Amino acid sequence: MDIKKVVQNVYDKVKGIDDKGNLASYIPELGNVNPDFFGVHISTIDHLNFGVGNSSDKFSIQSIVKVLSLIMAYRLLGEELWNRVKVEPSGTAFNSLIQLEVENGIPRNPFINAGALVIADILISNLRYPKEDFLNFVKKLSNSKEIRYSERIATSEKNVGYRNAALCNLIKSFGNIENNPSEVLDFYFNLCSLEMSCEDLSNLFLFLANDGFTLGDKQQILTRSQTKRINALMQTCGFYDESGEFAFKVGLPGKSGVGGGIVAVHPKQYAIAVWSPKLNEKGNSYKGVRFLEEFTTETELSIF
Ligand code: GLN
Repeated sequence: MDIKKVVQNVYDKVKGIDDKGNLASYIPELGNVNPDFFGVHISTIDHLNFGVGNSSDKFSIQSIVKVLSLIMAYRLLGEELWNRVKVEPSGTAFNSLIQLEVENGIPRNPFINAGALVIADILISNLRYPKEDFLNFVKKLSNSKEIRYSERIATSEKNVGYRNAALCNLIKSFGNIENNPSEVLDFYFNLCSLEMSCEDLSNLFLFLANDGFTLGDKQQILTRSQTKRINALMQTCGFYDESGEFAFKVGLPGKSGVGGGIVAVHPKQYAIAVWSPKLNEKGNSYKGVRFLEEFTTETELSIF
């Protein structure tokens, strides 16, 4: 099978569809992005690297960063981490407050905002220079040295981040945030503002398809068991209350962000990243989901 040809054909087909979605304009700066951007990049274990469209343009990865912050916290704390955040799908929107009240401030999983705020808190407690140390970790994992936070996007979100502030304060009231909530929020908004391209993302996430080892210099980032667990979490929780539907349609572990990016992993085979900024009502890229659905159907390269 010619993977490049399939990627190109599916890209051409999905590019033309009418995506009825909306930009994530609740973060004002994300409302200014050109809605027609569309890029895809695939990286395989046997060293195929192929991109189409806006595959090397940087965009705001938003919640995709939650996988990277989780990985960094997991390396620092090991299994103790799961005392602070659970590993169950939430079935609720990414910014929901509802379960926290009845579940004593322990978030359902690390990929909803509540869980990612707890992970941000853990990183602040364990790193000397959280923003710099995290950025260096991401740069070390990827081949690109050109990765940075967008101050413009972080500030734009911070100015209207009332809901995340509510989440952080509620968790703090239950004792599951150690640091000052304003410091945790500032770090969290910076994490979400990280800018990467589809090419950066698929190259970086490839170690999750490779038992936790980077492909080039064979560094071990996670143990095999930890890698399995991160992939399991992406499978069950990566798309908020659309996680079931994503598994049903696409059949790959993955993670989305409200910047319109999605990265997905096929253990032992490949990583793929898609970017198209218009979102469906669950906050996931409309064309991104559609592309991946057509791609795994055509190639039969889903995990099921
Ligand atoms: N920064 C965004 C928020 O907290 C991330 C949400 C997302 O990408 N789903 O609202």
